[in-house]
Amino acid sequence: MNNSLLRKIPKTDILLAHPVIREAVEKYPYEIVKETVKNCTDRIRRAILSGAVSSVPSADEIADAVVTKLGSGDIYSLRRVINATGVVLHTNLGRAPLGKAAAEHIAAVASGYSNLEYDLEKGERGSRYSHVEELLCQVTGAEAAMVVNNNAGAVFLMLNTLCEGKKVAVSRGELVEIGGSFRVPEIMARSGAELMEIGTTNKTHPYDYSDACDEGAEVLLKVHTSNFRIMGFSESVDIEELAKIAKEKKALLLYDLGSGFLFPCENLGLHDEGHVAGKCLRAGADIVCFSGDKLLGSCQAGVIVGKKELVNRIKKNHLTRMLRIDKLSLAGLEYALRYSVEPQLAVDNIPALNMLSLSGEECVRRARQLRQKIAEAAPEAVTSVIDVQDEAGGGSLPGVSFEGAAVSLQLNWLDTKEIEKALRENAVPIVARISRDNVLFSTRTLLEGDMDEIAEAIGRIAHAGKAVRQ
Ligand SMILES: *Cc1c(COP(=O)(O)O)cnc(C)c1O
Repeated sequence: MNNSLLRKIPKTDILLAHPVIREAVEKYPYEIVKETVKNCTDRIRRAILSGAVSSVPSADEIADAVVTKLGSGDIYSLRRVINATGVVLHTNLGRAPLGKAAAEHIAAVASGYSNLEYDLEKGERGSRYSHVEELLCQVTGAEAAMVVNNNAGAVFLMLNTLCEGKKVAVSRGELVEIGGSFRVPEIMARSGAELMEIGTTNKTHPYDYSDACDEGAEVLLKVHTSNFRIMGFSESVDIEELAKIAKEKKALLLYDLGSGFLFPCENLGLHDEGHVAGKCLRAGADIVCFSGDKLLGSCQAGVIVGKKELVNRIKKNHLTRMLRIDKLSLAGLEYALRYSVEPQLAVDNIPALNMLSLSGEECVRRARQLRQKIAEAAPEAVTSVIDVQDEAGGGSLPGVSFEGAAVSLQLNWLDTKEIEKALRENAVPIVARISRDNVLFSTRTLLEGDMDEIAEAIGRIAHAGKAVRQ
């Protein structure tokens, strides 16, 4: 019975000759249209084989579906997804979401020419760093600033410029590997700096640093242990104390802050003031570097702030050219920095910060709203609102969790794996959280319109899933 149905699926050549599809070929590249047609017929084939459907759509219906798909944007490999995991800076999902206004600003800069390296006042060549340097100095109190492609690049550039051929003391407790095989010892070796390991994994004392200086270390490097936390019998030396040692021993003090933050903010769970770039500089760090797309909530970038003489040397390093920031990221970064001048403005205008600042009660309110929408779209769905622990993610605030709320979903005729897969295959893919036998939609990380999309998707999945079982 399946075979006769399979034979009824229109052939690719016939579909490509369909007038509606021929019209689409004038708008989209032929290969993309052909691929979309094939994907559509493949999906019908799979549905027949799984027993989910008992009839084949007509060539007209398939042609319409192909055109809808071409127009919807899901022909791209890299595209928008809905993050229902409750992890705000999800490394696999693109870290910080930018928000509409920031994206519009970037689009405006990108869709034409820009003054990227052109000084509009003088009418001559300008510097790409000029667009954010003053702002960064303003928000961090630094003497000078620059930005590169990402923080891994910033750390490398800082070490290569300031530490080549020099002994650099780093606590064994901070010789970390950040996701994507960024390992501090290897980056140091590549940069030409000579690593001097001090202390132990769980304990490093102030005397370890001063002893290192006595043994020839000219630089003290502190690395924020972003993605883990050593609990129990442990000790590290904070930036204030390090600054005293560095001053006394005339050593340079560098700090890879990783998920640096621009202002202290209690309601963001940011009790650890060591995250605040400006504070580290005031404490006496010579250079501090951090990511643009972690707690700053903007684009991928590596921010370097600190002493003017040192930043100038970094700017002159030829490697800067290889690590330079792209104009789109720069536009996004400038947007975030303009709002970061005022903490409340930042929280209101930078989605990642806004999400981190949501109270547990607000998450519950949103979860109730989502549950209601799901009940309307899929009355058969079994749902409840549950408390969850959300995370900042991106290795930014290890060990800190945020009281959140999620809608837990069960569909009697589909198991968790099947629901999770169907959600991923949605036109706008939905990445949910799986806990035991439930699919959870954490509300903290949902953006405007996401709730409606989730409810509609569950409606479709419930409907299709029920058809299979009947
Ligand atoms: C995240 C992180 C990096 C890498 O930053 P990217 O912007 O991802 O390149 C380096 N160091 C620390 C401590 C980090 O947390």
